[in-house]
Amino acid sequence: MSVRLRSLETITNKIAGEAMNLPLMDKPVSDYFNEFVFGPEAKKKYLPQEILEKFTNCLENDIPIDKETANFIAIGLKNWAIDHQVTHYTHWFQPLTGKSSEKHDTFFQFDKNWRAIEKMSGNELIMQEPDGSSFPTGGLRSTHEARSYTVWDPTSPIFIRRTKYGRTLCIPAILISYTGESLDMKAPLLKSMKQLNSIAVKICRLFDENITRVTPTLGWEQEYFVVDESLFNARPDLVLCGRTLYGNASARGQQLADHYFGAIPERVYNFIIEFEQEALRIGIPIKTRHNEVAPNQFECAPHFEFANIAADHNQLLMDKIDKVAKRHKLRVLINEKPFQGINGSGKHNNWSMASDTGKNLLEPGEEPHKNLMFLTFFINVLAAVKNHADILRASIASAGNDHRLGADEAPPAIISAFIGSQMEAALDAFMNDVDNLEGFYDNTKAPDYLMVPFKKQHATDRNRTSPFPFTGNKFEFRAPGSSVNVSLPTTTINVIVSDQLNVFYSNFEKEYNETLKTADKELDKQELRNDIIKKLLKKEYTECKKILFNGDNYEKEWVEEAERRGLPNLKSTPDALKVYLSEKNISLFKRNGIYSEDEIKARYNVFIEEFLNKLEIEAVLIDEIAHTMIIPAVVAYQNDLINNVQGLKNLGLLNESEAHKNQLLKISSHLEGMISNLELLDELRKVAASMDENQQKAELYNNKIKPLFDIIRQHADKLELIVDDKYWQLPKYRELLFLH
Ligand code: ADP
Ligand code: MG
Repeated sequence: MSVRLRSLETITNKIAGEAMNLPLMDKPVSDYFNEFVFGPEAKKKYLPQEILEKFTNCLENDIPIDKETANFIAIGLKNWAIDHQVTHYTHWFQPLTGKSSEKHDTFFQFDKNWRAIEKMSGNELIMQEPDGSSFPTGGLRSTHEARSYTVWDPTSPIFIRRTKYGRTLCIPAILISYTGESLDMKAPLLKSMKQLNSIAVKICRLFDENITRVTPTLGWEQEYFVVDESLFNARPDLVLCGRTLYGNASARGQQLADHYFGAIPERVYNFIIEFEQEALRIGIPIKTRHNEVAPNQFECAPHFEFANIAADHNQLLMDKIDKVAKRHKLRVLINEKPFQGINGSGKHNNWSMASDTGKNLLEPGEEPHKNLMFLTFFINVLAAVKNHADILRASIASAGNDHRLGADEAPPAIISAFIGSQMEAALDAFMNDVDNLEGFYDNTKAPDYLMVPFKKQHATDRNRTSPFPFTGNKFEFRAPGSSVNVSLPTTTINVIVSDQLNVFYSNFEKEYNETLKTADKELDKQELRNDIIKKLLKKEYTECKKILFNGDNYEKEWVEEAERRGLPNLKSTPDALKVYLSEKNISLFKRNGIYSEDEIKARYNVFIEEFLNKLEIEAVLIDEIAHTMIIPAVVAYQNDLINNVQGLKNLGLLNESEAHKNQLLKISSHLEGMISNLELLDELRKVAASMDENQQKAELYNNKIKPLFDIIRQHADKLELIVDDKYWQLPKYRELLFLH
């Protein structure tokens, strides 16, 4: 029996996976949220009052924590951990692989009398020294220069990771090399948040003296697919690449549009309930769950948080979701494009800025056209996107995302922003000094059959085709792929916005000071300030029009229009990554204190290598699956047909117009197509292997080798439709997508 048929048999016997030591959902979330986080309650219980105050003061005012305080925190933290049956601790960090990493140490030590005790010092809390040689460094270090440090990041909550048999204290950390360069995703994010804070506060204080801190907020939405474990195991491409390299479309896909927001299938529902509980226990504030557009595709989203914490939580969620799925004998696919021909998965990054006074800086309020503080931030974000569309595009470049962007399911590779007709009307009112903006929120009459009050609450409609729509009081960067570490696109948004705000502020300051200096009479400073801001904003907004597009981003007319407007269209990862090396972008990151030139080049090197590695793995697997699973199945069926033809001939039943023979010819021609293109693939891979330059190699893979993947696949997928079902080894799309 084929592997596929065996795995199909096992599904019917499956029961929904048993939850592991979890209570029924008989408690409200508020009872167990943060249960395994060293959060406010744990800190209060385990830290002396004075230490807690010092710790809080450091966090709130960006003051480094001194050694003595760290020692006390370490003691309290260890006690809390031991009370929660924790035996080990680890720095938990995010190297440039985009994944999270850890190296466990035990609390167990000997005291002076060789007695076993449990201990963790301030030093151990603050710093650890893992062997960094196996993390990607993009050329910053050679293999023999292995030393690197992880350093505690106290801005993100410490948590406990649990399995059935053990518990580990996870201390969020950043990774730096022995020579001090940043080797991770986290440090740049933290730096970009500081940078944004310093300029945004200056700007806020032009309008509101009470604001002393601004923090970017991030609310991600995570899309993923769920498939049965035994079917997953029978597909080497899913196991090794997270996406199918072969597979004919199922007769029924997403065309009935009945999956989106449909009832969640019970087995998946049980799994979701368990992973949500687990997520909430470690402080991930999951709020929303629903079916996505494609069959077996789902989404979850949390309440938004400060960007660094949200980024940690997304990393943790991706890890958690995978582990819990396995307990339910399911597998989660977080890859951007697991299935050809149906929607892929993204990770929408909802981004805004919050002040310490509780204000959302992108909240338009009732009269946005007169709300100068809002307009300053809103228009400058648009200007940032206009000026830095290329690096924003590069921040979401990956092999997986290349399959998704511009494929009628996700925004195209052209970065534009949507603000909607209402915001546009508000902006027009601002541009023309119109005072009265009637009915900004509620310009349609409520339908009279409704039994409840109805008032529109959003300042915009939605545009799900736009890569960067304004969605009422935040921007939603919709282009990141589902598997990406959100730190990277978020760092990029923070940096480009900071840079633009700095430009704006210095233009403002210059003009303000000069006007005051040269004025021949006493001026009303507030009036002058507002006039200059208005003037500068009007100029910025006029220039921003280029990046605004309210229409359908999926249409090909937009590609032409964008070209006329001179917007970059960086279609593939190799094209997009190149912009990291442009003088403009090196200077952008340098002047904002995010990366040195070496650090930015290192990132380019790591990302292009990752792209290449992924494509190389796919190429090898396409070849292997073809030769070991597809071609043998086809040949077996071909032999059946040959025997059949032979038999008919022997009986004298075969006439000259035989359909039987045509069937054989069809099979042979697809086999021929597969085999000859597999040979070509082999040759081109050898050419690539002989190249020194990764950029050149990546372009060869992108332009010449990847198209062969499609050709080989087309032949195989046609064969899937012809070959006897009992021979076919790879689980089919209809099985992967509709069985659960
Ligand atoms: P959608 O319907 O597109 O899923 P939602 O209103 O449910 O939109 O919000 C999606 C995400 O936006 C959630 O993760 C939410 O926390 C986040 N979000 C809401 N407000 C903000 C904000 N001010 N800053 C950042 N993210 C936000
Ligand atoms: Mg959304």
